[in-house]
Amino acid sequence: MNSSAISPTDLNFALEQDNYDPQAHFRGRFHFPETESGESFIYFSGNSLGLQPDTAEQYITEELDAWKKLGVEGHLNAKRPWLPYHELLTQYTAEIAGAFEKEVVVMNSLTVNLHLLMTSFYRPKGKRKKILIEDNAFPSDRYAVQSQLKIHGNHPKEGLIILNPDQGDTITTEWIFDCFHHHGHEIALVLIGGVNYYTGQAFDMKAITKKAHEYGCLVGFDLAHGAGNLHLKLHDWDVDFAAWCGYKYLNGGPGAPSGVFIHERHLGKSDIPRFEGWWGHDKSTRFQMPDKFVPTATAEAWQLSNPPIFSMASLLASLEIFHEAGIESLRKKSEKLTSYLELLLKSELNEHITIITPVSVRGRGCQLSIRLKNPIYNTIDILREKGAVCDWRDPDVLRVAPVPLYNSFADCHQFVHILKEILNGS
Ligand SMILES: *Cc1c(COP(=O)(O)O)cnc(C)c1O
Repeated sequence: MNSSAISPTDLNFALEQDNYDPQAHFRGRFHFPETESGESFIYFSGNSLGLQPDTAEQYITEELDAWKKLGVEGHLNAKRPWLPYHELLTQYTAEIAGAFEKEVVVMNSLTVNLHLLMTSFYRPKGKRKKILIEDNAFPSDRYAVQSQLKIHGNHPKEGLIILNPDQGDTITTEWIFDCFHHHGHEIALVLIGGVNYYTGQAFDMKAITKKAHEYGCLVGFDLAHGAGNLHLKLHDWDVDFAAWCGYKYLNGGPGAPSGVFIHERHLGKSDIPRFEGWWGHDKSTRFQMPDKFVPTATAEAWQLSNPPIFSMASLLASLEIFHEAGIESLRKKSEKLTSYLELLLKSELNEHITIITPVSVRGRGCQLSIRLKNPIYNTIDILREKGAVCDWRDPDVLRVAPVPLYNSFADCHQFVHILKEILNGS
């Protein structure tokens, strides 16, 4: 390979990168939405809804078929029996979370799981009542956290500590430490988006967890934008709990079920406050339905209901591809791909934009958030007309996510070319 001879702004550079990319073939495992003229969109919205894996339809159809032909017996006799269906996702989910299998479970949807987890891990007592979140937290997380404060009789505003950015749009780890220094003894729970949905900042979860524990706070992360994006090591980082959705980077399809991580030190306890249901009961006696609830000794103790098979089927299809590709190598490609997009944006569009996502590779995942200096009102529609799908946040931020599983270096090149045309008014 002699890409050094070609300028990175040359399309041939991108094509050559794709040519030598050992992960490039995974692109063929996903369905790309198409323009009216039948061309694939440049799809940079995998941070909102991941693309459909090629096996998803088959996996869902197989379950529809099993239901058609077996009725209730599908619970035991389907090719993938429904009773333990969620267990098919456990190993792959543990790989993505960097966890032991017993520490993860796939169930419900994200906000529901945040509530279930806060029921267990937000335990205000005495002076220690507050919840620490980041500025620009996803609105649903703010609602969830504030309603938890209210349920415990705390003030929904005064009970919150919101971390504001201290360096441009970034919240530095030092600043977070400073907050613990001043407020650590009042904080019951830290609940931060591991990757902020708006700025794309990835937090140093290991350092934050360690510091928070020194001050006696429990720590949870919303990993809606972290799962399937970063190389997570939730167990080693000693995080207390985390949850994420299955439909963003994990490509499980609209409303796909959510993943949950609970550190092993919290497992196997019967005295932990927890909403309970039959699917969390010890498997050996679940169907005898005894009066007394005996929790499963794993994160499954938090399950309430029997799992939604159809929506798990498409998530399974995607997780198999993640397993094949390996999250560690995907992350390596991701770092290159996003750095390449950043390089192009800076060299081609510097006078028009500021990238508000941290520059350091450790401080971000695959997403770049681009602030337009002179925002054009319908940028997102024009981008779409020209064949690129991404996301707009008023008043001036474009969020683009080159996803390592299915985006290419050529996608980055074409995207910047299109954006340049728009911003140059041509
Ligand atoms: C996408 C997202 C959600 C969505 O919540 P659902 O319960 O899946 O609707 C919540 N929080 C964050 C941080 C998100 O990015």
